[in-house]
Amino acid sequence: MREMELRGVVTGDVLVAGDDGFEVAGRTMVATGRPAVVVRCATAADVAAALKFAEANDLPIAVRSGGHHAAGLGTNDGGVVIDVRPMDSVEVLGDGVVRIGTGATWGQVAERLAKDGLAISSGDTAGVGVGGLLAGGGIGWMVRKYGLAIDNVIAAELVTADGTVRRVDAATDPELFWGVRGAAGSLGVVTSYELTAVPQLTVHYGSLLFPWTQTEQALAGWAAHMTEAPDELTSTLQLAPTMMADRQVPVAVIACVTGGDVDKILEPLRGLGTLLTDKVAEVPYPKVFEDMTMPPGFAPRIRNGLFDEWSPDLAAKLLYARQHLPALAMEIRALGGAYGAMPADATAFAHRDARFLVNTVLLDQSSQAADFDAWWQTLEPNGAYVNFLSHPTEADLATCYPEPHRTRLAELKQRVDPGHVFRSALAVPPAGLDLPKQEWTGGRRHLLRWAMRARR
Ligand SMILES: Cc1cc2nc3c(=O)[nH]c(=O)nc-3n(C[C@H](O)[C@H](O)[C@H](O)COP(=O)(O)OP(=O)(O)OC[C@H]3O[C@@H](n4cnc5c(N)ncnc54)[C@H](O)[C@@H]3O)c2cc1C
Repeated sequence: MREMELRGVVTGDVLVAGDDGFEVAGRTMVATGRPAVVVRCATAADVAAALKFAEANDLPIAVRSGGHHAAGLGTNDGGVVIDVRPMDSVEVLGDGVVRIGTGATWGQVAERLAKDGLAISSGDTAGVGVGGLLAGGGIGWMVRKYGLAIDNVIAAELVTADGTVRRVDAATDPELFWGVRGAAGSLGVVTSYELTAVPQLTVHYGSLLFPWTQTEQALAGWAAHMTEAPDELTSTLQLAPTMMADRQVPVAVIACVTGGDVDKILEPLRGLGTLLTDKVAEVPYPKVFEDMTMPPGFAPRIRNGLFDEWSPDLAAKLLYARQHLPALAMEIRALGGAYGAMPADATAFAHRDARFLVNTVLLDQSSQAADFDAWWQTLEPNGAYVNFLSHPTEADLATCYPEPHRTRLAELKQRVDPGHVFRSALAVPPAGLDLPKQEWTGGRRHLLRWAMRARR
């Protein structure tokens, strides 16, 4: 199939070099891709046509929703970008069930659902896409009350590698339904999700600032409180980079309370130290979303770890980084609550025992990257989250998908994508497909040959 034929088949736009808007269409937030073709898919049939085109022309594919993945997974060089952004509808179906196109952003979703007094715990940034966030999990401002965003998914429509459009739920294909909730987009292109939204018009949300001199005390007190706090409270402790302020950067504790006795719930947080400012106020839920973009060409080094418990040793290592890596932004997100109530084998996202996520963003890659990597070697987390990794490696993949999840995913992948069409450094390869390193970037036919050999 040629590009002209593709244009005749798909209802969305097909862009190649020289077309208006092609340069922008090839980019994500952090990556300047140079794909051969960008297919803006308006329907599941468009996605199937784009997959067929990629296969016919032996081209790798990248799937794009909001374009926010820190590893730039939503584009490629010389391949086909399947851009789902035209599929951005948000429909309220009744009884709290909503159907959302994967091209919508979470800011759009929150604004639309608020009109019906509904909300979904998703993330913290308006421009993040529904497709990418739900591919990995979704740790939002109400995660302790309502779980990960994927925990609220009740069905998904996806196009698998063979071009079949499937609606999967717990009854029709329980294994694929398990997989689409956390497998980092490695099983197919999801075109829409059905989710259960909750009635939540407003939340109490905002920051509490404490002096930098009380960082150690605030960190210890916050972690202790968040291991026993009610599920109504979701909170993050943020330590902004110190390089611009001679280390004197206040500690920020961000709180989001969904209900209950708000002042009583917030009291232990307000008492963590000398309160400099208190900006917690009742706001409509869509107001918790911020927008953040990065300057062109700026690609920070991002790494995260999930920890099953807080320890003085972990605190000491975070404080060490505070002193020695002035370009490092750290946020520690408290988990537990509804997040932890989900059984570990319920979704492809594995780490339900985790109580804290430590997410780190190194702003100055050039001078501190080696120290940053060496420091991470000392941390020994219990797991990692696929959505906060800028330079994913095979070791990261193993940390994101520990056994038995890894084997279960590989077997599922063998069933629905034996040729490893949906491949990336964060995609578990099909069982039996032992890819040598150079094949990871090789053409699709090589991969199919490998798959055939592996099955023999
Ligand atoms: C500023 C910022 C704030 C963030 N905040 C949060 C947060 O609060 N909570 C949180 O959990 N995460 C957060 N993230 C991480 C975010 O969830 C991931 O980066 C996610 O991948 C972004 O989704 P996207 O659709 O915008 O990205 P894209 O780059 O478009 O997609 C990333 C990958 O997801 C997969 N994917 C995308 N769409 C589909 C689809 N339709 N079907 C199948 N696979 C698909 C593909 O593998 C794709 O390559 C944040 C990221 C940024 C940059």
